[in-house]
Amino acid sequence: MLKKNLPFTKQQIESIIESNPTPFHIYDESGIRNNVRKLIQDFSWAPGFKEYFAVKAAPNPFLMKILKDEGCGADCSSLAELLLAEKCELSSEQIMFSSNDTPAIEFQKARALGAIINLDDFSHISYLEKHAGIPQLICLRYNPGPLRSGNAIIGNPEEAKYGFTREQVHQGYRLLAQKGASRFGLHTMVASNELNHQYFIDTAIMLFELAVEVYKNDGIRIEFVNLGGGIGIPYRPEQNPVDTAAVSSGIKEAYERIIVAAGLHPMKIFLECGRMITGPFGYLVSKVLHIKNTYKKYAGLDACMANLMRPAIYGAYHHITVLGKENEPCNTTYDVTGSLCENNDKFAIDRPLPEIEPGDIVVIHDAGAHGHAMGFNYNGKLRSAELLLRENGDVIQIRRAEKVEDHFATLDFDQLKYFS
Ligand SMILES: *Cc1c(COP(=O)(O)O)cnc(C)c1O
Repeated sequence: MLKKNLPFTKQQIESIIESNPTPFHIYDESGIRNNVRKLIQDFSWAPGFKEYFAVKAAPNPFLMKILKDEGCGADCSSLAELLLAEKCELSSEQIMFSSNDTPAIEFQKARALGAIINLDDFSHISYLEKHAGIPQLICLRYNPGPLRSGNAIIGNPEEAKYGFTREQVHQGYRLLAQKGASRFGLHTMVASNELNHQYFIDTAIMLFELAVEVYKNDGIRIEFVNLGGGIGIPYRPEQNPVDTAAVSSGIKEAYERIIVAAGLHPMKIFLECGRMITGPFGYLVSKVLHIKNTYKKYAGLDACMANLMRPAIYGAYHHITVLGKENEPCNTTYDVTGSLCENNDKFAIDRPLPEIEPGDIVVIHDAGAHGHAMGFNYNGKLRSAELLLRENGDVIQIRRAEKVEDHFATLDFDQLKYFS
């Protein structure tokens, strides 16, 4: 069993807690930077390679700015995410807008920022034209349907609501060219949390072959392919990270065999990963409030599913470290719970852990993607603060915790007086 390491000591966390009460999320800046640098380095052979960070994974502008500094763009899918990109002074081709069922106002904002718009459906061509106009540069999202089996998490592409069919891709480019578009991208997203590196090579081969087909059939030259995100992370100690160097070399071989051979070099390669960029570098830190012994043993935390809902909604595994007890035997089995009035509010079920006492500090690993981001306010639970462990060891707050006033901000209690 591999050891899950932490970028901080128990003493450091105790001193952070003095000024930042638990629960909170804390991100490791040097982990994020080193990881994304390696990814970009692995693809240094690829012309115009760019990683567009999928903002939905960790929509915090401080993290986005770190990633911008490392050369990443932003992959946005909503108005709020576009506004975050704007606040980080990302613009034009540093932003991909990959949305679906898109409202007009979002297309308008994306156009105003000059973002690369990635259309999800054939009918969006005329909708975009009507509401925001057709840009010079446009991208289409391809759904391979029966030609590709999806991975376990994203499911079968034929059942997925996203993207154009193959025939619609051809028609779409031709129609867009008629309407004045002159630069074209091709996108797909067929996996989520996939750990098999071959999957991403197969996706690249599929898009490269389609780009050649579009060139031959429609006379459209694809300027970039965006392979989507979906690179998984080792949530479990016995899992290994995806070998991105192997992904890159497999894609390079396919690029030479398919794209160079067809005379389509140079064609840019983009990724839009979220999970693998911030996921392993975010930690949910919480204190044990209560130990309960009934038919099972429960360790009740001051965090709940509102701080991290992946275990509850997907049954996802998140590793848990009890600080200061890393070397004690895991000889007690707990359900680790939050306080929501929902029995699925559990971070772990039947998890062997060292003996826990109230007051122990618990760290939940791999919470840096779709962790704080998926927070919600059911039961009036408030979203926690987000902290950043800087490269020099300083800790700064990059989002304060919600207060009950934030939660009630949409209610006008004064009107209660007049209401009977
Ligand atoms: C969620 C999403 C991503 C990022 O997926 P990860 O699994 O976090 O890498 C990229 N592109 C689109 C269109 C998405 O919906």
